[in-house]
Parts: sequence; C-alpha cells; structure tokens
Amino acid sequence: MTVARVARAALLGAAFLLAAAGCARSRSSPGAAERPAAPGTARASGAPAAASPAPAKSQSSPASPRAHSVIFILVDTLRADHLPLYGYGRDTSPNLAALGRESIVFLDARSQASCTFPSVNSMLTSRSAAAFLGQPGGALGLPAGIPGLAELLRARGLHTAAVSASPIVRRSPGRFNPGGGYGRGFDSFQEDCVWKSADCVTDQALPHLAHDPRPLFLYLHYLDPHGPYAPPASYRRRFARGQPAKAFVRQGDPNPIAAWLYKHGPDPHLTPADLSYLVDLYDDEISFFDSQLGRLLAGLRGSGLLDDAIVVFAADHGEEFLEHGDVKHCHNLFDTTIRTPLLLRVPGARPRRVATPVENLDIVPTVLELLGGERHEALLPGGREGAAFEGRSLRQAVLGNPLPPAWQRAAQGALRSVADGRWKLVLDLRTQRFAMYDLAADPGETRDVLADHRRDFHRLHDALGAWLARTEGGPAADSLRRAAEADRRLRSVGYLDH
Ligand SMILES: [Zn+2]
Repeated sequence: MTVARVARAALLGAAFLLAAAGCARSRSSPGAAERPAAPGTARASGAPAAASPAPAKSQSSPASPRAHSVIFILVDTLRADHLPLYGYGRDTSPNLAALGRESIVFLDARSQASCTFPSVNSMLTSRSAAAFLGQPGGALGLPAGIPGLAELLRARGLHTAAVSASPIVRRSPGRFNPGGGYGRGFDSFQEDCVWKSADCVTDQALPHLAHDPRPLFLYLHYLDPHGPYAPPASYRRRFARGQPAKAFVRQGDPNPIAAWLYKHGPDPHLTPADLSYLVDLYDDEISFFDSQLGRLLAGLRGSGLLDDAIVVFAADHGEEFLEHGDVKHCHNLFDTTIRTPLLLRVPGARPRRVATPVENLDIVPTVLELLGGERHEALLPGGREGAAFEGRSLRQAVLGNPLPPAWQRAAQGALRSVADGRWKLVLDLRTQRFAMYDLAADPGETRDVLADHRRDFHRLHDALGAWLARTEGGPAADSLRRAAEADRRLRSVGYLDH
C-alpha cells in the first residue's frame, strides 16, 4: 500500500483524497518518506553566518566517553529569533551567546507543538504529541508506559533532579495542572519556583552542582519570557522605556488582547507603540533570564561539571505578537511559536553551527548516544527500547560530520505541519485545507505558495500523510476530539485563560 493510500485510508479522508489527486508517486515505506528526497535548503533568514562551513571529518574520538552528567536547560516561551545567536539585532542574551561559542548550535530547530503541553512531553520522551493527547482524565504529564529522560537516566545510575518554574511541568497537582505527572524518574523535583523568575531557579540549581560522586541529570525549567512580561522590579531594564498609559501594557499582560481576540472581550485599542512596548518587555525578560544563565554557567564552571557534562539548551515554543493575528502561544504553527533555539555543549566536541533541520524530538536519542556505553545501545533508534523514538540522534553533528536531511513535525490543536528547512506545509484538520510557505524567501510566512510549487507540495504532503498515519492512524475526527479535549483541559484550569 502506498503512503498516500495509507494516509487516505487511515486518517485524513477528504483532505488527502482531494489534495492527493495527481500525486501518484509512492514510496516503499513510511520510513522512506520520512526523509526529504533532496536536502533542504538552509534557512538564511535571521541567522548570522547562516550555514556552517562544510564540516571536517570527525577529528578524533568524541567527547562522549568523558560525558557522564547532563544539564538540561529549558526556557519556556523563548523564540529563536529574539536571540542574537539567531540573528536578532538586540543584545538580549550575551551569556547564551558565550555558551553558543562553546557549543554545537543548531540554527534550524523546531519544537513539536506551540504549547508547553504537549511540547515538553515530546521533548522528554522523543514521541510525537499524539502520544499524549486524550489521556484518561485529561492528564497532562508523561503517561505510564512512556519513559521520560529522567527515568531512562536514573535507571542507568544518574542522580536525577529538577527545578521547575512551570505551572504545567510539575510533579504534584497544582492549579494549572491538577494531575501533576512530570516527576516520574526524578529523585528530587523542586516546585518552589513556580511562576517565579530565573534567579529562583538558578538559586535552587546551584546546590545540585556541588561535588557528588554520582553523575547528575539536572533539568531546569525557566519561565521568564512567558507572559506576563514582567521582569523583576529590581532589574534594570534594557529595552522597555517610559510609562505607557494603558495599565495592561505597562504590566506586560497580553491577556486583554487575547480576551479581545478569542473571547469577544472589549477592544483594548492596542496601538503599534503598545505592541512594541510588550515586545520590549519580552526582550527584557529574556535579558533577565540571561543574567541568571550567566550565574548558572559560572556555577557549572566552578564545580568542574562542564568538563564532565553535556549541556542541552532548548525551548518548548516561542511567542506570537500579532504577526499572524495571534498573541501568546498555543494558537498556530508559524515559526513565531515553533522555531526555537537548540544548543549542545559536549566536553571535547568542537563548537560549530549546523544548518540542517533538527527538532526537539532528537534531544533524547542524542543525549543517550552521547553518554555512550552498552547499556545505552538498546535505547537508540532501532534498538530494543529505543524503537519507539520518533527523533534521531544528532551525534554525528557533534562529531563534526554532516547530518542527513530530515523532516520537522509539529502539531497543535487541529493543525499539523511538516517542514524540511526550506518549505513548510500546514494542514488544518477542521477545514481540511493546506497552506505552504517558502521559509527561505518568506521567513515571515506571509504568502501561501502551495499553488505555485506543486512538486514540493506533493513531497511534503506524502511526508505529512505518512507521519500522521503512523502516529494518529485513526479517523481525523478522533485526532480533533483528542486535541479539543486537551485544549479544554488547559482552558478549564485557566492556563489557556483566553
Ligand atoms: Zn511553554
């Protein structure tokens, strides 16, 4: 059965039947369809020195035998294009830039969703969002039977600890996540910093860096760029100046705009200056986080852990400022909300920039392979336990070797997308309509070019169909229902409050 037929039969019904007319090519397997036929063109937009020079062959054995610990830094709501490391004109993050000079920087990384749930779930398990929708009782955490990175690493002897400022990513029940469910596999999961600023997370992280004979997995979930955009009063702002007349603008609160857009709330009479001020505050939040990242990195350096630890830096999604008519996140799959930073600092590995498309699904298999050792082999894609991973190991990039091209996949609500670094195809399951964007020519994703590029459309369409057939292989109505239930759950507890 061809991939197109699988897609037709299994999932998307009318949308694929209509769109696939004339799309007669078949592929031997969904796996084959998971790789673009030709390498994607690297995105030049927004990236300094966009493509790394042709990588040299592996210089030597990798640092992986020396890496025993993992420091995982996740920053909630951090857009790649608001970082100078990714071409932003403002110096929002000098400490991250310094980390970038010691790291493998992935210039074209995307998250699996534009909402914390299920993006973090995907990141920590290397499973697509579909694995987490429709859990009993609307649970948000990692379901039993799908091991998270902490569980995998603790089973291999690492001491596992988390400090999370997220009201979603927590171990115990809370207002915005009544089920908790993210603590499995952690020896210690600190929740005192929920909704608090980066200084709290760094304060609680530093004691974990003290000498301990056991290797360490430390998961740090910072929340600063998440709304409201309100850096600590004591922090000297770098970008937001003046005192706007509207209180919600002064306070960096996007919710009145969201209420107007999504809940028929009153018109907030937003001006361009108001919007700019909110963006300025968002950048100030990034800047404050960065100052605390600097403290964390100094602590890591002082403890000697940097000689022994893989440092992962990632974000669960970005943030929208009306570029496509939305605010906050969880609403669309444009790059404002799914293009995220990804850095890997590996002891002994040569810093470089990698333009090949990657995704957050790749983090878990990469970390496991870099840690090395026979005990990890079964966890790698194709291995016994790793067979269910959706992502791939990026170890070859760490070694300085080219990565084969690969798809970037994302899901949010009724939207599904695939991208190959040059093109992005988005399907709306509600309307059964597709839209396609040329990310190289139009990084703002302002023009649907589907009608002008049918060959590329068919190529991406096949990949999307294969992915959905494999991960959501049921009627489209089921996908919609489970996505709607997940949204309703978040809305009912006030997280998607507008
Ligand atoms: Zn988030």
